Amino acid sequence: MKTMLSGIQPTGDLHLGNYLGAIKNWVRLLDEYYGYFFIVDYHAITIPYDVASMQPRILDAAVEYLASGLDPSKCIIYVQSHVPAHTELTWILNSVTPIMELERMTQYKDKAEQHKENINAGLFTYPTLMAADILLYHPDAVPVGEDQVQHLELTRVLARKFNARYGEYFKEPKTLMSEAKRILGLDGKRKMSKSLNNHIPLKATAEQTEKLLLGAVTDPDRKRRSDPGNPDVCNIYSLHKLFTPAAEYEECAKQCRCAGIGCVDCKKILAKHMNAALTPVRERITAYAAKKDFVIDVLRDGAKKANEVANKTLREVKSLMGLIADWQ
Ligand code: SF4
Repeated sequence: MKTMLSGIQPTGDLHLGNYLGAIKNWVRLLDEYYGYFFIVDYHAITIPYDVASMQPRILDAAVEYLASGLDPSKCIIYVQSHVPAHTELTWILNSVTPIMELERMTQYKDKAEQHKENINAGLFTYPTLMAADILLYHPDAVPVGEDQVQHLELTRVLARKFNARYGEYFKEPKTLMSEAKRILGLDGKRKMSKSLNNHIPLKATAEQTEKLLLGAVTDPDRKRRSDPGNPDVCNIYSLHKLFTPAAEYEECAKQCRCAGIGCVDCKKILAKHMNAALTPVRERITAYAAKKDFVIDVLRDGAKKANEVANKTLREVKSLMGLIADWQ
């Protein structure tokens, strides 16, 4: 079976953007690919964080992975730092990574701007760790959002550089773009993100979800209820297309254009459909959160399987590089 690999940082509660932009897509792909899904804790330490909350965040991420439909019989779920080969291969790849390529990375520039007081080497070499995360498992494909396309391209560059220097070994994974590529936040402008506080937590209640939607930015030119609106520039309308039946959201758009419907009513229709779609996921989050021992077993089993694959790769890589002695 073909394989795929992806991961999400344990930033706290997963949100609707993670679910629609990534995990839902992974679940769909599991019919075609065996999955490696990891919780990206080593990447998460490149910005300041609360040490005491790291372990609860990791377990919450695992709970939400499982609740979103990642079936451990079709994939492995593990924590990045439980597989030491990730950092060892990173060092090896650092030795074929041109500094210039790292300097070009848009996400590094954005993060350096956001965390001016903490521009560390980990932030800078983050894409090399990501290349190691991927290349260790020889996946056929990597499902990513738009913001990770550049990192995946660098992964292919590093695979080619390694192969050119030490012999053909790594395969170049292809990019699988998510259908819901970029989910905007409640500000209607920037990608949904917990750090920007423009998100809807996956485990929000139905009431919290409706309240958050009622506060969301719509068509900025629609100032009064009597003004006609333009659904094409409204993020609420983009979300309608992901949750509301077509006939109903098309009617919302028609009524919006002639001021036949107000934004509050339009948002309440969206909240109803969004809550109906998310209720089963939320119920499973509650159920898995009550079964911590099961979740820990999934992570232990995942780490064991991931270590087997990753250690084999590392040994082969080191052998190609002349780093393994016959007495080892
Ligand atoms: S009526 Fe709906 S689609 Fe139109 S601007 Fe308001 S929220 Fe957006």
